[in-house]
Amino acid sequence: MTDTPRAVLIDDIATLVTNDPGLGRGAVGEIADAALVIEDGRVAWAGPRTRAPEADARVDAAGRCVLPGFVDSHSHIVFAGDRSREFAARMSGQPYSAGGIRTTVAATRDASEAELLENARRLVGEARAQGTTTLEVKSGYGLTVADEERALAVAARVTDEVTFLGAHVVAPEYTDDPQGYVDLVTGPMLEACAPHARWVDVFCERGAFDEESSRRVLTAGVERGLLPRVHGNQLGEGPGVRLAVETRAASVDHCTYLTAEDVDALAQAARRPDPTVATLLPGVDFSTRQPYPDARALIDAGALVALASDCNPGSCFTSSLAFCVAVAVRDMGMTPEEAVWAATAGGARALRRTDVGHLGPGARADLTLLSAPNHLYLAYRPGVPLVAAVWKDGELVSGRP
Ligand SMILES: [Zn+2]
Repeated sequence: MTDTPRAVLIDDIATLVTNDPGLGRGAVGEIADAALVIEDGRVAWAGPRTRAPEADARVDAAGRCVLPGFVDSHSHIVFAGDRSREFAARMSGQPYSAGGIRTTVAATRDASEAELLENARRLVGEARAQGTTTLEVKSGYGLTVADEERALAVAARVTDEVTFLGAHVVAPEYTDDPQGYVDLVTGPMLEACAPHARWVDVFCERGAFDEESSRRVLTAGVERGLLPRVHGNQLGEGPGVRLAVETRAASVDHCTYLTAEDVDALAQAARRPDPTVATLLPGVDFSTRQPYPDARALIDAGALVALASDCNPGSCFTSSLAFCVAVAVRDMGMTPEEAVWAATAGGARALRRTDVGHLGPGARADLTLLSAPNHLYLAYRPGVPLVAAVWKDGELVSGRP
C-alpha cells in the first residue's frame, strides 16, 4: 500500500461513461474529453479534463473510452466437467431441457474442492480480463447438503455475491420424491448453506420447481436471512415473474417468455424502492437457439433491465458481457447505450448494489479502459477484444493502460 500513489488521475478520456445523468449527457451520463481521479479505491472526482484537480500520478487514456466495470449478476462457475459435446449435439438439432444440469452435478460431486476452486478462479480471471469487476456466483451443481455447502465455500473465496441455488433441479436421488427434496433444500441444506451466502435462488420452471415449491424455497431462505432472486420464464411462460415480484426478489432472470401481465408486473415493480429487475441472459438464448426476450417491450413499459452472462457449462459457456451487449443490441431491440447501462448499472440494481455500476464520486473505482473512442464500439465491434485495462477498487487488475 505504501508505494501506491494516493491520487491517480486518468486523463485524456475521449468518452467517460459515468452512468450518472447528473454528471454528463443522457442516461449513461457521458462526458466527452474527460478525466477521472481515483483515491483510496474510490472515484474521487469525474468531469471535463480541463477542470481536473491535481493528482500524485497520471495515467494516459490517450483518447480512449472509460466505463464502469461490468456487473455480471448471474453465473454458475463452481462446477467440474465438460459439456461441449452436448452443445454440439444441441446445435445438430437436439432440444435443451433443464435436466442436462444433472451431467454437471455428477462431475462436480466427483471433483475435489481444490479443482472446483481452481476452475472458478480461472473463470473469474477470464471474466475480469473482459471487463467484469463484480460477478455473482451460484451453487447448484452439488444438490446434497455437503456438496452445496462446499460449492458455496468455494464461491465465497472468489466473490462477495454468493447465491444458494440448492433448488436448481431436483437431485437425482429424489427423482421419485420431489417434495422430499424441497424439504431438504428448505431444511438441513439451507441451515448448512445460509452462512456462506447472501442470496437464495430457485429455478421456477417446468422440469425444475413448480410455483408452490419455489415459493417455499424463497420463503425459507428469506426467513433464514437471505435475499431472494429467481430463475424464471426461460423455457416457456410460467409463474416465475409473478412469484419474483410477489416475494420482492431483487431480480427475475431469463424472462425469455413473458405475458403482457408479466411485463406490466415488472414495470410496476421497477417503481418500488426495492425493485425487481428483469435480468436478460442473451448468451443462453444464443447457445440454446431459443427466441430472444423482448427487451424493447420491457424498457418501453418502464421495467428495469439488466444483462448478465449466466456463465455455466450447459446452456451458455460465455463469460463475456461485451458479447451479451452485442447480442442484446443486434437481436433484442436494445440501443447500444441501453445495453451498456444494463450490463453495468442494471447489474448493480439486480444485486442491490449502489457502490458499483457507476463512476460518480464515492463509487468503487471499478473501471475498464477500452481500445476504442466510445462505448458504442462494444456492440459495433462484436467479438473483438476491446478491453485494454481493468481496475478494481482502484488497483490495476488486468491489462495495461
Ligand atoms: Zn442461471
